Amino acid sequence: MPHVCLVALSGVRVVHPRLRELGLTLPGLRKRAQALAALPALGLLTLAGATPAPWTCSYHEAPGDDEALAQEIAARRPVLVALSALTASVDGAYALSGRLRALGLPTVLGGLHASMCPDEALQHVDAVCIGDGEAAWPAILADARAGRLQPRYRAPADLARAPLPRFDLAADKPRPRFTLQTARGCPLACEFCGASRLLGAFREKPLELIERELDAICALTRRPVIELADDNTWAGSRDHGALLRALGRRGVRWFTEADWRIGRDPRLVRQLAEAGCVQVLMGVESPRMVPSGMGPKQANVNEVLDSIENLQDAGVAVNACFIAGMDGETPQTLEELADFILACPAADVQVTLQTPFPGTALRRRLLREGRLLPCAWSAYTLFDVTFVPERMTVAELERGFEALVRAVYSAQAQQARATIRREVSRETELQSWE
Ligand code: SF4
Repeated sequence: MPHVCLVALSGVRVVHPRLRELGLTLPGLRKRAQALAALPALGLLTLAGATPAPWTCSYHEAPGDDEALAQEIAARRPVLVALSALTASVDGAYALSGRLRALGLPTVLGGLHASMCPDEALQHVDAVCIGDGEAAWPAILADARAGRLQPRYRAPADLARAPLPRFDLAADKPRPRFTLQTARGCPLACEFCGASRLLGAFREKPLELIERELDAICALTRRPVIELADDNTWAGSRDHGALLRALGRRGVRWFTEADWRIGRDPRLVRQLAEAGCVQVLMGVESPRMVPSGMGPKQANVNEVLDSIENLQDAGVAVNACFIAGMDGETPQTLEELADFILACPAADVQVTLQTPFPGTALRRRLLREGRLLPCAWSAYTLFDVTFVPERMTVAELERGFEALVRAVYSAQAQQARATIRREVSRETELQSWE
């Protein structure tokens, strides 16, 4: 039977030596990195679900290029190896692809980075899947089996015909976490966003398919923990009540990503809590800087803080996400950002550096302005400076960001947020999601 190996290049990386050291030593950062690494690559599980008989498939995760993994894959004698990587891990994917091709195994690469940089990717892999993978997948497999793999595949997926992901392939971990997608993209267009519309227009999955996926996950484990792997779950026009009832009926614990508007509707907030939502990852971005394209997400900071408190009063913890280094930022505003975050009532926070990922409006603008640094893709970690800031030097941004990270993830700040989490959380087990 023909076999395909699905390989996710996973893990969080940092290039800057002092920040890398901080990532290893500050508990908040370390736990966050571990939690992210534990999430399976939903795109590959979806391809597994779209794999027709008589094909068989296996799922592998790797932190980077690895000779032992290449040998393990080769031992399965696959007809094809499908790789998935983010920008920061794509150099590892290219290197692994080189090893596999040297062993005579054809490779195909998909994901956001490959979709935005297909010419570059084709220097390292045999084929690139641009955009959604599942619609093109049967043709890719058929061509690989016939030995006539084409360099590019592109076929926009219809979410109304989305295959059921093979969640079982990621269920053998000690504490498995599952990802489930209710929509792709986002109707907003924040300048820095690497997810909004790069893989196509905003689309919502029909409720009956979401319910089918929920049932498949619930059949694998009791009271699963699910991440809604959406870019902005509540930004569309679907009947939110029906989706929440579907989640609530199954007794799952879940978390999601949304913009601040989710917390201004008391009815929705109550429904979220009743439906088992334990955490909302909320893009606050910056209390001062306003990137273009935010649309209705742009708000007075007090409205955002009210939204956070509304959600947490109802028992839904908020992980407030901030971006440092946007245009207008100075060493002084970075210090003010640290003060703001330390006073923020959110149960958890996440701080990253603005990063001009391929395909974003931010990257196009910085390229026009001659402000992109000549970095390797491995520096696109969200923790390394990859562009020339507008109102300070690269070294000033690096120093200011390091000080910000030290302040925000200090033991004292972590302790204060742990207290908030205890007050908010109805599920002590979920407090380990830090
Ligand atoms: S709201 Fe979030 S997902 Fe939507 S465009 Fe902005 S950053 Fe991207």
